[in-house]
Amino acid sequence: MPVIELTKKCPHCLQVKSVNDFCKNRTNKDGLQSECKTCSATYQRARQEKKKLLQKTMINTPQVLDVSRIDELLKGVDQNMALLQLAQTKNQELNKKLVEYASRIIELQNQIASENRGSH
Ligand SMILES: [Zn+2]
Repeated sequence: MPVIELTKKCPHCLQVKSVNDFCKNRTNKDGLQSECKTCSATYQRARQEKKKLLQKTMINTPQVLDVSRIDELLKGVDQNMALLQLAQTKNQELNKKLVEYASRIIELQNQIASENRGSH
């Protein structure tokens, strides 16, 4: 008959808790989840929040970006943010072109800015 441990240490909160404070998990050697129920709930919540945030980002990011919108995107906004937004597009081929195009615009803008600085 196997020895049944009545307590188990949670690797997350480092607390020794009763086995009742751990969810059952048949895939684990001791038949219990490695983290306690409290930590598990916290982890689940964090995961859900992350998922929600990701979904929100996906909705806000157009699947296919209109090339004519690049200037608009780059104008007056943080250029890095615009690039980030471009990098999140699903279409990788288009995405690559857009990022190339965007960095060229930034290069040109920097060039113009430095020329303006030089002449004034
Ligand atoms: Zn814990």
